[in-house]
Amino acid sequence: MLKPRATHDPLQEPQAFRDALAEWFGKNGKDYPWRRTTDPWAILISEVMLQQTQIATVLGRGYYTRFLALFPTPQALAVAEDEPLLKAWEGLGYYRRARMLRETARAVTAAGGFPAELDALQKLPGIGRYTANALRAFAHDQPAAVVDGNVARVLSRLVDYHGTVDSPAGLKHLWELADQLADPTRPRIYNSAIMELGQTHCRPGVPDCLACPVASFCKTLEPAALPVKTAKPKTERVHTHVLWARDREGRILLHQEQGKRRQGLWKLPERTPEETAVLPEIATRTYGITRFHVTMHIHGTGPVPAREGESWHAEEAIAALAMPSPYRKAAEALLGGD
Ligand code: SF4
Repeated sequence: MLKPRATHDPLQEPQAFRDALAEWFGKNGKDYPWRRTTDPWAILISEVMLQQTQIATVLGRGYYTRFLALFPTPQALAVAEDEPLLKAWEGLGYYRRARMLRETARAVTAAGGFPAELDALQKLPGIGRYTANALRAFAHDQPAAVVDGNVARVLSRLVDYHGTVDSPAGLKHLWELADQLADPTRPRIYNSAIMELGQTHCRPGVPDCLACPVASFCKTLEPAALPVKTAKPKTERVHTHVLWARDREGRILLHQEQGKRRQGLWKLPERTPEETAVLPEIATRTYGITRFHVTMHIHGTGPVPAREGESWHAEEAIAALAMPSPYRKAAEALLGGD
C-alpha cells in the first residue's frame, strides 16, 4: 500500500493539524443524533452504548432513540426497576453497563444535575477519564482530550508509536499526546473529527491513507502494523446444554439469572450433559461472548421439575421478558418453528 511520507509534524504544528482535521470534518462529518445535542444525559447514553457496541447497531436497531424515549432524564432512569431497564438494553450485551448507568443517574439526580468539572465528573459512578472528558467536550465544549480505541489507533500511527497502546505506559503516553494535540478553541469539533477519522480512513488493518486529510502529518510508513496491542487470550470453545421444556399448558420453563453479569435476565434452563444425554437435541446455536465461543445445545422435553430460580411462562409473555440475545433468538426460532 502506498503511504505518503509526512511533511509536517503534528506536535510542532498542532494548529495546522487541527485545522486540516476540522476542515475535513466540516465537509464530511456524519450527522449522529448525539452530535445534535448538548444535553449531557443524551451524550452519556451514547458514550456508554458505544463502549462495546457498533454505531450501526446502536442507531440502526433503534436502541439509542428507544432508550432515550423511555428514560429521557437521569431522574427517569434513577427510579427504574430492573425489568424495564434490562428490556431496554436487551441485545446490546454487557448488561452491567445498564445498571451502572442507573447508578450514575441516581448520583446525578441526588446532586441536582451534571457537574461540568473533570474531578466532579470522575467521582460519579461508572465515569472514568474518557467519559468525563467526552462529556466536557461534547456537552460543554470545554478543552478536553479523549482517547478511545479509534483515537489510540490514529495517534499511534501519527507519531509512529510502537509501544503497546493498552499498557499503562502506552495509555499514559497516548493521553499526553492527546492533551498536546487537542484543540483548545474547538474541542467538540476536534474530538468528533479525530474519532471519526479512526472510524473511516484510519480504520483497523489497512487504512485509507491516500484519502486521509492528515496524511501529510502522519509519520508511520507501516500503518497496518499499528497500533501494537497486548496479545489477547486465545478463544476457548465451550458447550452448554439447555432445555426447551414445555408443560401441558404449553408454558415454557425459564431461569432468571442471579449471577453478577446478567442478573435479572431470563435464559433457557441449563442442565449437565449427563442430564440431557437422553433428550433429543432439537436445535443448536453458536455465539461469541468475551473470549468464549459457545455452542448451545437445545434439548426438547415435556414438563420437568423446576429448580431454584426457574419458573413456567406462557408463550405470549416471553416477548416482554429481558433475555440475552442468543436465548432470545433461540426462543423466537423455536416458537416460530424455524
Ligand atoms: S489514515 Fe491513519 S495511518 Fe493513514 S495517513 Fe491517515 S492517520 Fe496516517
